[in-house]
Amino acid sequence: MTHVIDGNAVAETVRDDVRAAIDELEAEGVTPGLATVLMGGDDGSATYVSMKQRACDEVGIDGTTVEIDPDAPAEALYETIDELNADPDIHGILVQMPLPDHVPKREVLSRVDPLKDVDGFHPENVGRMVSGNSRFKPCTPHGIQKLLASADVDPEGMDAVVLGRSEIVGKPMANLLLQKTDGGNATVTVCHSRTQDLAEKTRAADLVVAAVGRPEMLTGDMLSEGVVVIDVGTNRVDADNEKGYELTGDVDFKSAREKASVISPSPGGVGPMTITMLLYNTVKAASLQSGVDVEL
Ligand code: NDP
Repeated sequence: MTHVIDGNAVAETVRDDVRAAIDELEAEGVTPGLATVLMGGDDGSATYVSMKQRACDEVGIDGTTVEIDPDAPAEALYETIDELNADPDIHGILVQMPLPDHVPKREVLSRVDPLKDVDGFHPENVGRMVSGNSRFKPCTPHGIQKLLASADVDPEGMDAVVLGRSEIVGKPMANLLLQKTDGGNATVTVCHSRTQDLAEKTRAADLVVAAVGRPEMLTGDMLSEGVVVIDVGTNRVDADNEKGYELTGDVDFKSAREKASVISPSPGGVGPMTITMLLYNTVKAASLQSGVDVEL
């Protein structure tokens, strides 16, 4: 019998922990504050930002959104980040990607105070994670670790294959699976668009995390019996409905489910966890900055 992970249910249990930690902070007069900065122009970004705002409201984080004209010079964004860095009521800063082409992403990520970098993308935080001393784990792979734990999957000793090597999912996922800590200790292979014989690698895997952005690319015939599958993909495909599209993962759920012992579907798996781990990191940031210890 395949265990299908319910990402919404797992997210809700993590949000309960987050709410309890917020109560502990509030008791000491600290309200966690998250600022989301939106400079990019696409509809998807605006939707994500409003989802983050709603999630903050729902758990009791003071969420604010700062919008910057996409045609403004990069300096306008730098100034906003500097102001937020200096604001004691703001504990977490998130700059929504993608940015307009004229704004250098690396400069922006380095500008955020590493103690407020709740995305975990500042080079200092990336370095800490890679060296096994994480401050803020990146939200999507951290959420995946929580999903695996919820299904009693311990990656220790597993042959894990991560499909995708992006900075936000593939690389940090591979790193976390490799760490000598709980949720790690796997033997990790990372695949990408230049990988030869991808199916040979996925067939040899006990755990596959698919983060490629290709609808239903991973099919059951590429998997072995009893495998654990995590689908990160969130792809818009044309559909005959009001919106004209629907969301689908990187995994062909039907055929993969026939092979898997545990599978996290998309939608309904990793998606709800990503925003939840952002709330988690914001509370952690508030704890670190205020010196009030909380249980998380
Ligand atoms: P990127 O486009 O940044 O990275 C995709 C990766 O997949 C790249 O490393 C690329 O290789 C690799 N790739 C592309 N085509 C193939 C192929 N045919 N075979 C093997 N590897 C391939 O994507 P992200 O990591 O940002 O996102 C991946 C997916 O996850 C997307 O669908 C995205 O929407 C979703 N996502 C979902 C989140 C959630 O919270 N649910 C959060 C973040 C992302 P190369 O490096 O060689 O180009």
